[in-house]
Amino acid sequence: MTLPDPRTPGEQATGTPQASGPRLTQVEGTLHALQVPIPYPMGYVTVLIDTASPVTLIDTALDTPEARQALEDGLHALGLHWESIERVIITHHHPDHYGLAGLIEERSGASVYMLDIDIARGEQYWHRWEEWLPGHTRHFLDHGVPPEKMASHDAESRKSRERVWPAVRVQPLHEGESVQLAGHDWQVLWLPGHADGHLGLWQPDLSLLIAADAVLPRISPNVGLYAYSRPDPLGDYLETLGKIEALNPARAVVGHYGPVMDGVAERARELAAHHAERLDLVRDTLRERPMNGYELSFVMFNRELSESSRRFAVAETLAHAEYLRLRGELGRRWDGQSWVYFK
Ligand SMILES: [Zn+2]
Repeated sequence: MTLPDPRTPGEQATGTPQASGPRLTQVEGTLHALQVPIPYPMGYVTVLIDTASPVTLIDTALDTPEARQALEDGLHALGLHWESIERVIITHHHPDHYGLAGLIEERSGASVYMLDIDIARGEQYWHRWEEWLPGHTRHFLDHGVPPEKMASHDAESRKSRERVWPAVRVQPLHEGESVQLAGHDWQVLWLPGHADGHLGLWQPDLSLLIAADAVLPRISPNVGLYAYSRPDPLGDYLETLGKIEALNPARAVVGHYGPVMDGVAERARELAAHHAERLDLVRDTLRERPMNGYELSFVMFNRELSESSRRFAVAETLAHAEYLRLRGELGRRWDGQSWVYFK
């Protein structure tokens, strides 16, 4: 489980995109990518639309009036309506990907699918938000975030929750299964790290990967340890990057800054190298003196951040510290107020 919003901590807002007709790109045959505006620094999320039967959306953007309008315009440009949609596949539960799933389900009767692992974990967040919130807060306090820096947490979580319309019924996809899309069989992949149950779709003949946020150009997808996430998100993510590198796709459809990128294996290697450097920084820093996750986050992200971005920074810092602790390179002790990591 992660708190929503995959932005790189500290990235500055780039402003609201201008509306000027649907931003549609043909990816392959009947498969089109629509860039839908989101109120995050990335500006847009990629929604894929397959106009072949069953008419399918992959990801949905989050529930804002601008996103609803952009989706409607995109569908119309392809000769479709809300009612035409028969199937929705969600790559992961973050609000910018899952937000409108419930609305589409209600308007079209479409079947909504996610990876089994995300249904069991991340997607639960939207149903158990109220119940899980204290655990999320506790997690940050236990890692040294001062209580006064948590003031905005409840309100921000609530705002995210309000922009998500969860589906009533989500059906599972399983790793290794195949789905029909644009006249081809696609293999379902499990690409954890950015989200525990992050799904990918791989079409070997086209050498095309639907990657969503598993690999991104320009930014490093947020990989964070949260109260309800798997214990080793960075370990998961490095395996995912290895998987993507081994596939060596000619192209990938990405969640942001796309819709399509090439040089995918190269980008996976770059991201792995980036995390290796960050792990070295954690080792070197803790060799000097022990620190809790909050203190360590100021070494890892040494710049002015909003309270909310600082929490993402803490979560990402913890993913690195836990990676090393689980491999016996670091220890951790409770100092009466927070967990302190030491080398
Ligand atoms: Zn995203």
